[in-house]
Amino acid sequence: MSEIKRFTLIKPTVDTPFCIDFNWWAEQGQDPNVFLREYLCAEHQAAFEQNQTVKIDWVDPQTAEVQAVDGLQHVLIQHCAKQPNFITANTSLVDAVFRILLANGNIPMSPVELSREIGKPADLILRTLSSGRVFMGIRPKHPSK
Ligand SMILES: [Zn+2]
Repeated sequence: MSEIKRFTLIKPTVDTPFCIDFNWWAEQGQDPNVFLREYLCAEHQAAFEQNQTVKIDWVDPQTAEVQAVDGLQHVLIQHCAKQPNFITANTSLVDAVFRILLANGNIPMSPVELSREIGKPADLILRTLSSGRVFMGIRPKHPSK
């Protein structure tokens, strides 16, 4: 019985952590970096102008695991998302959630936690993120595989 894989679909709640799944773009047949490039600071937009893919070694602060990560995504999280003007008051709810997750190193956050950061009600965030459509790769964090 232990060999049967369980695919449990749990309805997300305001306490369900969400994070950006960078594989989502690939599933849509898209390159995430084409989209993510717009979120880079001016300096790094110039640096990543060409369609280059750079892989760098990165140590996960939570698991201490070394992973080959995408250079653009790394720079975005480590530098550009930490710039003071990265999160502005005029972004849409989904964009605000996306920017907060990036600025926090894509550590999963629940709608309750996101609500504190972006000042929108947690149930509104939950309804938006669990509407059945995935926005910008933001999905519930599945228990580690
Ligand atoms: Zn930057």
